[in-house]
Amino acid sequence: MSTVWEKLDDKQMKKLMSFAEGYKSFLSEAKTEREAVSESILLAEKVGFKPFSKVKKIKAGDRIYFNNRGKSLALFVIGKDDIDKGMNILGAHIDSPRIDLKQNPVYEDNGLVLFDTHYYGGIKNYQWVAIPLALHGVVCHKDGTKTEVKIGEKDDEPVLGISDLLIHLATEQMKKSGGKVVEGEDLNALAGSIPAKVKKDEKDPVKKNLLAILKKEYGMEEDDFLSAELELVPAGKVRDLGLDRSMILGYGHDDRVCAYTSLKALLEMKEPQRTAVCILTDKEEIGSIGSTGAMSSFFENSVAELLALEGNYNDLKLRHALENSKMLSSDVSIAFDPNYPSVSETKNTAFFGKGISFNKFTGSGGKFSANDAPAEYIARIRNIMDRNGIMFQFSELGKVDQGGGGTIAYILADKNMDVIDAGIPVQNMHAPFEAVSKADIYEAYRAYLAFLKEMN
Ligand code: MN
Ligand code: MN
Repeated sequence: MSTVWEKLDDKQMKKLMSFAEGYKSFLSEAKTEREAVSESILLAEKVGFKPFSKVKKIKAGDRIYFNNRGKSLALFVIGKDDIDKGMNILGAHIDSPRIDLKQNPVYEDNGLVLFDTHYYGGIKNYQWVAIPLALHGVVCHKDGTKTEVKIGEKDDEPVLGISDLLIHLATEQMKKSGGKVVEGEDLNALAGSIPAKVKKDEKDPVKKNLLAILKKEYGMEEDDFLSAELELVPAGKVRDLGLDRSMILGYGHDDRVCAYTSLKALLEMKEPQRTAVCILTDKEEIGSIGSTGAMSSFFENSVAELLALEGNYNDLKLRHALENSKMLSSDVSIAFDPNYPSVSETKNTAFFGKGISFNKFTGSGGKFSANDAPAEYIARIRNIMDRNGIMFQFSELGKVDQGGGGTIAYILADKNMDVIDAGIPVQNMHAPFEAVSKADIYEAYRAYLAFLKEMN
């Protein structure tokens, strides 16, 4: 089985490994959609990107980004062609499955104070218990100020955690099916156990003590949880996986691994023929809806703004800009797992180390809800990949009728543009710690770069 590894010389190997280090730092910092936006802006501004609000007119080579509520981002490198001739677009999502605090989360139960939660995205609940969780997010106060929260990442910071039943008393629990072993409503995170000094019959002294800590450290009242977005995510940094350090174990590869590689490819673009774009979107894991999801008008509005600056805006030109565009929906695919071979059909499955994975179809059960990338478009992509010596594979998400999944591909395809799913294979997708191959990360980055430069 030939892989990316075998074709590398020493110099290329070094490049690949150092690219992976950059990604590891990014992923260790960007654990929420908001953090992914901030980290991406940091990287972009370093190489000359400006927020749209500071742009007065545009010309080829200009680097512009649109920030949507700090939760999604569209970055453009203006091309030599007019925008209505079409853009080359990379689109990835920056939200990942996690456990959100409810709006009224704090309660005391028998001397312990807990946070009630509602999970976000598709998770196996049982994977999220008995591991250290960090609390990330924002608290918005009534006076318009905002407090950023990030507790549990530094060695000397406390973490939160959700308990699991001890095996000694789990006879009944172990008889339950996987989906019921840990119920969603039982995902309550332990947050404290020291009581405040209170009058004899005063209720909830432990909660009182915790609220006092929150007030002191974050200036927040209990009511402020109402206007907070607080997410429990696996604590700790990303790690190398494997004694040969060929893989990375980390939280949120889906889909920040494609977000980072897409962004890095875009940042390389100098003065492309066609305008190059990277969309980093939110809410993919829960259906891409809402103002910050891929279905929002945000991206289309951004393109309209640029057409207007170009002195070229009308409704028809906007439609042309979209339908003449070509897109890679950069989202992760499943990697073959020797522990669970039965769910995959190996002729049409992605493997670690064999490069970027394209999916003509996503969807499930007879291709339901799939984006179908046109064969003509795929042929052109194959040509670009081969010309650049980029290793790729074609896969489906599991065996027929085994399950399936979707991405943002169909949403942009609805604008009548050619879109294909193209991403990095992942093992244990949606688990607190997911695995990817460094070879595939590097090959995806090279594929994205070649696509931005050469697709027309
Ligand atoms: Mn995804
Ligand atoms: Mn996902």
